[in-house]
Parts: sequence; C-alpha cells; structure tokens
Amino acid sequence: MDQAVPGWPRLCAKARASVRFLQARVKTLENKVLVTGGAGFIGSHLVEELVRRGRTVRILDNFSTGSRDNLSAVADSSAVDIRVGDAADPEAVRSALAGCDTIFHLAASVGVGTVTDDPLGSLENNIDSVRTLFGLLRSGSPVSRVVYFSSSEVYGKSSTERLEETSPFIIGPADAPRWSYAAAKITGEYLALGSSRQHGVPTTVVRCFNTAGPRQVDTYGMVIPRFFRQALAGEPLTVYGDGSQTRCFSFVGDVVASVLDLAQHPGAVGEVFNVGSDEAVSVLELAHQIRSMTGSRSEISFVPFETAYGPGFEESPHRRPSLSKLRSFTNRNDQTPLEEILSSIHGWLTQRADAGGDATADVAAEAGGTADSACADDSARTADSASTADSDLTDSRTGAPVERAARLGLRTSAGSSPAV
Ligand code: UDP
Repeated sequence: MDQAVPGWPRLCAKARASVRFLQARVKTLENKVLVTGGAGFIGSHLVEELVRRGRTVRILDNFSTGSRDNLSAVADSSAVDIRVGDAADPEAVRSALAGCDTIFHLAASVGVGTVTDDPLGSLENNIDSVRTLFGLLRSGSPVSRVVYFSSSEVYGKSSTERLEETSPFIIGPADAPRWSYAAAKITGEYLALGSSRQHGVPTTVVRCFNTAGPRQVDTYGMVIPRFFRQALAGEPLTVYGDGSQTRCFSFVGDVVASVLDLAQHPGAVGEVFNVGSDEAVSVLELAHQIRSMTGSRSEISFVPFETAYGPGFEESPHRRPSLSKLRSFTNRNDQTPLEEILSSIHGWLTQRADAGGDATADVAAEAGGTADSACADDSARTADSASTADSDLTDSRTGAPVERAARLGLRTSAGSSPAV
C-alpha cells in the first residue's frame, strides 16, 4: 500500500505527528500545576494567574505563615485543590505530585526576622523541602518543568553595582545567623541544578529581589508592609542603620509574569535568572515616600541593626540585579514603578480597612513566597495559552487589555478579572 500510493508514507507520518500533538495538548490541559507555598504572598498571586490562564492548580501549604485569606479569590474554584501539608514531608509531597506536570516550589521559611529567630529550624526546613521534592522527582514520572524559587539573598554582602547571575556569593560566617537563609538557598540551587544536569529533571532557578505588593505582611520583617503599618498607626517608622542601604522593589504581578515566561521557555532549563526590578531606592527615601503617601505624621526613628536583629547582624548595603539575562529570555522591559507599587499596597490596605479589616494589623500572611521569592508551564502548552503567557497586558479569554488596577492586584474574584 505504502508503495502503491505516492506520498502515502509522508501522510501517515504527518497524521501520527498530529495525533501525538493533540495527545500532548490534552495531557497538558489535564495535568495539574503544583504550587508549594501557594497560600503565601507570591504563591497566592501565582495561583490566581495560573487559574486565570485556565490551569488546574494544586496547592501544598502548611499554613504556618500562609493564609486562607490570600486564597479567598480562588478557594471555591473547581480548578483549585488545596492540600494542607508540609513541603518537607515526603508523603505529603508524593501525594501532592500525583498528576502534576509543572511544579513551582515556593514553600520556605522566609523573612530576615524568621531566620534570625530560628536559624537552625529555617535552615533545615528550607533544605529538607528541596531535598524531598527533587528526590521524588528524580525517581518519579517525568515532569515538564520545575521552578525553584531561590533568593537575591544568595548574593549576600556583595557590593557589585549590578549583580549578575554569575556574580560571586559573599556571605558572612556561620555564627552570624542571618546567612543561614542564604546558605539554605544556595544549597537549594545546587540540589535543583544538580537534579537538572545529572538526572534530567527540567529545572529553572529564579532569584527574586524584594518582591512587594498587596497581601505581603510585615510579620517576618518585610520593610514595605512594616512602614505602611507604622505610618497608618501613627507609630515611628523604624529605619535600620542610617537608611542609606538600597533595595530594588519589584511588583508581585511583574514577578509572576516573568516567572511564567521562563517556565515556558525551553532554553531556561538548567538556568538561573535574576527576577525583579532594577530601580533602586534607599530605605530612608522609602520611609519618606510611604509617610507622604499615607499622609502620616509619624516620626522616622533610626534603629541600629544589632538592636533590630541581634548581635553580629550583618547588613547587605546594596542589592541591585542585572536583568539582562531575564530580558533576553522574556523581552520584558517594562517594570511597575515604585510609586505604583506603593499605591497598589495603599489601595489594598484601604479596601481591607473599608471592608472591616484593620489596615494596620497583620492579617494576610506570607508563605512559600518570600519577599525574595515563582512559576511555569509546560512545553506542550496550547497555542492559546502560550500566546497569552507572552503578555501580562491582555486578558487570556477576551484578548482585551488588562486594566492597570487589575494588574496591580486590586481584584476580588478569580476568573472574572486578571489576577496579577
Ligand atoms: N528595614 C528597615 N526597617 C524595618 C525593616 C527593614 O530599615 O523595619 C530595612 C532592612 O534593614 C533592609 C531593607 O529594609 O535594608 C529591606 O528589608 P527586608 O527585610 O524587607 O528585605 P531584605 O533585607 O531581605 O532585603
């Protein structure tokens, strides 16, 4: 037959390829995305965006620092399956992995405050969860992509003007508790990249630089929600040191969009990326901006680092990423300016206060997502969803431009408007 009809073998091959393509598409749509730490600050924004893009998402979170409030927009959605469990518990992770094709690992003990309070516990937790996940992935069925959320903290005290992914890590001695977080995240990177290179687990590492936005709380030391709380309560804004240290704050929606792009990029496997903004601001200037935005008459009070974090604390004076590598993989050149990030947080706090919450209290909590903390896709993503993933400026269902306010997180229900 093959010989009798000219072109028949080629037609058969094409038909087989089409069937394989369709099977892959169906498989992708059926497969779930696992987000560990999905009830946290970054994790919950990531979950909302994945749901908005039509994905089914499983969350594994122990709710130690994450909160159900963070998931209020998606908790009732049939696309979301919430599992209460620990990311360092092999049985909980094994069960959560079943049927998942893409994994975002955000679950971690986060925040300078958490780490200086319990350096050993946070170190063990942050290493154990990565060992557990990659141990299971190495011996289990193949997945399309794993995104491991590392942190800019790995660069430590490095004072390089623009931190490149290849810049050296300069961390302090092991008896300075602060560096245990960096040590854990560096170890996590070795485990993730080693699993990618030696065992073929397709992994991308993202180093997030001071992510900020609605839902971030100050319980664990994050400076922006802390200054807002203090300003709104009329308390002094506690600037550590002389406030000349600088940070680059990035909007959580921008971080989620970048990470999703990387998770879909075939070339990002086995690679490390800085993710964030490169607009630097001093902590003192930040305090002034928040005070003026809130109309607060709070004083600014300068607090020595050692008073804030205990003896032996070492500060990172400046932390500014080079975003060249991220930009060359994602073409994302726009970043939400600090002024807009701050006003989105202020708007969120005002909405919460109007809804009966206390704008000055720690209500929502952060998990897995850290101020420094991910996302993804699969190689067989559908053409529709792949194209929407290329832009965070259009609605995936309608193709309409996304309102700036919606991008800034001022939304109330899943599926009806863009999450981030
Ligand atoms: N910071 C501050 N006052 C506070 C909390 C933090 O001056 O009440 C400073 C802190 O010393 C650091 C910056 O704000 O220089 C960012 O701190 P955060 O804990 O948010 O992140 P990280 O230190 O990990 O960059």
